Amino acid sequence: MLITDPVSWYYLAGFTGDAGALIVSRRGTILFTDGRFTAQARQETSAIRIIPQKGSLASAVGQFFKGGGRVRVGFDPGQVTVAQLRAVQKEVGPRVRLVPVNGLVQQLRNRKDPEEIGRMRKAAMLASGIMKDALKLLKPGVREFEVAAEIEYQMRQRGGSGPAFETIVAFGERSAYPHARPTGKRLRKNELVVLDLGVILAHYCSDITRTVVVGGASARVRRWHKAVQEAQEAAIESTNAGVRCEEVDAAARRVLAGYRLDRYFVHSTGHGLGLAVHEDPRIAKGQTQTLEPGNVITIEPGVYVPGVGGIRIEDDVAIHAGRTEVLTRGARELIEI
Ligand code: ZN
Ligand code: ZN
Repeated sequence: MLITDPVSWYYLAGFTGDAGALIVSRRGTILFTDGRFTAQARQETSAIRIIPQKGSLASAVGQFFKGGGRVRVGFDPGQVTVAQLRAVQKEVGPRVRLVPVNGLVQQLRNRKDPEEIGRMRKAAMLASGIMKDALKLLKPGVREFEVAAEIEYQMRQRGGSGPAFETIVAFGERSAYPHARPTGKRLRKNELVVLDLGVILAHYCSDITRTVVVGGASARVRRWHKAVQEAQEAAIESTNAGVRCEEVDAAARRVLAGYRLDRYFVHSTGHGLGLAVHEDPRIAKGQTQTLEPGNVITIEPGVYVPGVGGIRIEDDVAIHAGRTEVLTRGARELIEI
């Protein structure tokens, strides 16, 4: 299997560089990487062969298979580009058959072992602490990008390696965009604020969202928030090993439908979380695969009313055999600061 995704190199071999390729076979594991990373690779990995790569990756891989017998090499079509595939095929020649294998490493990554879940617990706790302190920054007049900058500074300051995704800070009407990017907009009294942040700690991601109002909330906003909070709680309640992912999504949607707000819930209920911020399983309509022990997922229903504002509440949940564990912390009630 030819593996070209750096996150999976770390997962399989401990290598944290971002140039090269990993080949995992019955006979062993080989890492091709260039001069910037060979010393680092020797230090970070054990029991794998490291081949210094000169020239293109395709020619290095081609050299490796040259003179060998017929062999089948798997690759992930979700990771390898058409150009890379053509270049590798040209170098390896007709005796090597390149076979698409969908998401094999991802399937392994989806089932976290206790050590990985321990790291994710710490990342989630760090994100929760940063969220708690970020709420204190919300004063009328503060700009979205100032709040985002402080959040991301705190991620580094507290030992994380940075944000797992671009931090979302959205005030007022802008909170109706689920993936709003921070702008120079200043916070006004009684506006909704959506904060969505994730920190990477020891390679593992966290992801948490809270919605607050600085000032007082209208009756309408209170009702929306209550609906989202109940939807999130129903979805978390429904998580368990053996439950189909679409059932968890449906649990959130049912509550919102009861409030006639389901048409404003424009994304899926959650996603897998791990070395990458968006992994399988997806918690969405039509996802018939079941939750398994070792899955870590987000539960993040939301309501977005164009021109008015949005509300989302997000927590991270680990699935264990027979029980589930919410990894993130912090009140979910509407906080009126
Ligand atoms: Zn998020
Ligand atoms: Zn998320």
